[in-house]
Amino acid sequence: MRLPVADAPAARSAAARLFARHRRTLWVVAVLHTLAAVAGLVGPWLLGRLVDAVTTGTTSAYVTTVVAVGAVAVLAQAVLRRYAQRISMVFGETVFADLREELVDTVTSLPLSTVERAGTGDLVARTTNDVDRIQHAVRFGVPQLLVAVVTLVLTVVASLVVAPLVALALFVGVPLLVVVARWYLRRASAGYQREAAAYAALNGTITESVEGARTVDALSLAEHRKARVRADLAEAFAAERYTLGLRTVLFPGIDLAIAVAPVAALVWGAWLLTQGQTTLGAVVAVTTYAFQLAGPVWNLIFWLDEIQVAMASYARIVGVSQVSTDRTATDETPAGDRVVARDVEYAYRAGHPVLHGVSLDLAPGERLAVVGPSGAGKSTLGRMLAGIHPPTAGTVRVGGVRLVDLPLTELRRQVALVTQEHHVFVGTLADNLRLADVGASDDELLAALDAVDARGWVRALPDGLATEVGSGGHVLTPAQAQQVALARLVLLDPHTLVLDEATSLLDPRAARHLERSLNAVLEGRTVVAIAHRLHTAHDADRVAVVDGGRISEIGPHDELVAAGGDYARLWHSWQQE
Ligand code: ADP
Repeated sequence: MRLPVADAPAARSAAARLFARHRRTLWVVAVLHTLAAVAGLVGPWLLGRLVDAVTTGTTSAYVTTVVAVGAVAVLAQAVLRRYAQRISMVFGETVFADLREELVDTVTSLPLSTVERAGTGDLVARTTNDVDRIQHAVRFGVPQLLVAVVTLVLTVVASLVVAPLVALALFVGVPLLVVVARWYLRRASAGYQREAAAYAALNGTITESVEGARTVDALSLAEHRKARVRADLAEAFAAERYTLGLRTVLFPGIDLAIAVAPVAALVWGAWLLTQGQTTLGAVVAVTTYAFQLAGPVWNLIFWLDEIQVAMASYARIVGVSQVSTDRTATDETPAGDRVVARDVEYAYRAGHPVLHGVSLDLAPGERLAVVGPSGAGKSTLGRMLAGIHPPTAGTVRVGGVRLVDLPLTELRRQVALVTQEHHVFVGTLADNLRLADVGASDDELLAALDAVDARGWVRALPDGLATEVGSGGHVLTPAQAQQVALARLVLLDPHTLVLDEATSLLDPRAARHLERSLNAVLEGRTVVAIAHRLHTAHDADRVAVVDGGRISEIGPHDELVAAGGDYARLWHSWQQE
């Protein structure tokens, strides 16, 4: 299963919504650019007037005035353009920042089951590569496109106003322009995407070959790898050649379409002049406008192309927000802390359940150890009990309310899953702890650290709670990071904890120390401990043996050992080890 990709209309309307939020800035940008473009059009118009005036005879005062007005127009254009550029840049950055924030919001509220099923790779690619690919288009492309369109339209309008008849020459190149641009834009996206994919594949093959050099050597795969590289190179070459082919049509085609305009204006204008239909000044003005069209036309084509490519990435970003939620909260509130599972079934892939009708009653405050062979479904059961996934069939309830009917923040105050993954986020130590309880005071944070036996090293930190940790900050040892995670649990204060082998990855010395921290956290809570090592099972109030997606035995350790079933066998064989 993959994450959805938005279709073109959905992506377009999402983009429209994104920009609509900044409608006012967009208007300011448009108005400023329009004014700048208008100021830029004054020059050729004045030049035309001047030519006409000189032809018919004028005073030097008139010439001076025209030149002065021209200078003012140029100055005004520069100033207007400066502010227009500035505001467009800020606008582009703001829209891009919005987009990123929106994406982070969406990603952090994605149903975990969907992320797991789709794999994190796709999601990471969308939040990195795809965001990178569109940032240029959002930051510069949209403002530039706006400028190009405004300038083009105004230049044509100005020509039509100055000399409608002469201005007709400007349209000579349009058919060629449209044909070439359409031909190119139809093929460009696919072509450049193929090129990017080809280079990604080539990079992958080469990196793999180099990183796995010993394996390649050991298995005599050298010829095979070389053939792969050659095939990837051939594809990259073909892809590059294709896009080069596209450009060899685009560049001369557009150049010709653009260059033909001033020539046509000149020739057509000269003929009109001989017929007495226009003035020399009008021909000069329109010809100058024709030269000014080149910049905006190129900009337009360039950015249309970039934006087209960016839209493909944007569709993948919008797709993330189209993932349907796996739960909708109701306003029921749990009556009590009792967690009860009834006939729980779960299938990661439809039709392949890994839990078959598991029922379990957790007495508040009890410790239940879950044991069983690897792949039996222990972790899956733990995730059901923590409300990570909605069960495919059956229910898990706390105080009579289904876990998946609780809002996520409420759910976490009831049941929390503790895994081996403990992440230290970039920020201060206090920020890291407040993830669990935004409103906690410093004293409460310190008390939580105290509870997990972490006060000592936190005190020794240069800035205490305000110490920057995470990537680039003060480096916490794995045991310290685990303690921070446990302190978060203390702040979160759920009545039931599901421990998925929480301490098994740590080195034994740290583990022993941590076990004390952990025990402090477990005090007074209901605990489901998924255990690899049976000695933790031994200490539990009850032990559940999970086998083949079912609870095959459940009861106190001594009873199960005495009963001589699966657990007794596991226990004896573990003791012999
Ligand atoms: P245990 O914790 O007892 O080792 P798990 O609950 O991890 O067992 O796994 C139970 C079964 O579910 C296994 O067959 C495993 O391959 C499968 N499974 C676990 N996680 C996933 C997943 N994310 N996607 C698909 N299958 C999974």
